[in-house]
Amino acid sequence: MGVSVPVLTYHHVNPSREITPAGFEKQMQFLSSNGYAALSLEELSEFFRTGKLKQTKSVVITFDDGYLDNWVFAYPVLKKYDLKATIFVVTNKIQDKNYRDSFDTELDLKNERHPDNFLSWEQIRIMEKSGLIDIQAHTHYHYKEGESWGNTSNLSVQEELVLCRKIIEEELGNKSLFIAWPWGEYTEESIKTAKEIGFKGALSTKVGSNEFGSSAMEIKRFKVSREDLDWFRKRLELYSSPWRAKLYASFYGFDRKIRNLWK
Ligand SMILES: [Zn+2]
Repeated sequence: MGVSVPVLTYHHVNPSREITPAGFEKQMQFLSSNGYAALSLEELSEFFRTGKLKQTKSVVITFDDGYLDNWVFAYPVLKKYDLKATIFVVTNKIQDKNYRDSFDTELDLKNERHPDNFLSWEQIRIMEKSGLIDIQAHTHYHYKEGESWGNTSNLSVQEELVLCRKIIEEELGNKSLFIAWPWGEYTEESIKTAKEIGFKGALSTKVGSNEFGSSAMEIKRFKVSREDLDWFRKRLELYSSPWRAKLYASFYGFDRKIRNLWK
């Protein structure tokens, strides 16, 4: 019987969003007290190649976009439970010197994409030095053809990837090897481009199985959209079983196709 590693997607963790700091802590405590190891994406890729895991119960914890609340609310909890996580940053939003430690609920709800709602490089460097947080690419302008965040210059996907990777390298001195596709959108062509640029892995928003022999260029994830522990436990069970994860993914895909027909 094979094993699949669930990859969790979070965005915000703050008091006015679907995942509150208390809810997030309960989930992390659940992972910790139930013997789950939180892997880096390098370790997940290693598992794809070798089929070996140090702990059968493993997960990967990821955050998209690079919001300030990850530093204020999520990072202290990850430290407390000694859990690794990966944050995918939209590099044009990350400020250099604006060192902010307090979270502004009003600003978050009024203008989610204000630069003050995002991490700073100083915060990122502290998190990286802890050895728990890995910073990876989410493009420079949150790429989407024709409607990237605040991008009037309309860079190509290749330009977005190169620029994002270059900035991460300049700021942190290490290469970004993984890309999480903004909006979960990618094509065969964009995967090819990412490979050519030197990315070793890519993450979608598609659900499914991450098992021995899986491609690191199409890592499956599920969105943690609820904080209740019963739901959380069931999702972990679902995505820990390759056949159940695949079966669910095919139903989910089928369901989506049907819905699209009626749109
Ligand atoms: Zn995003």
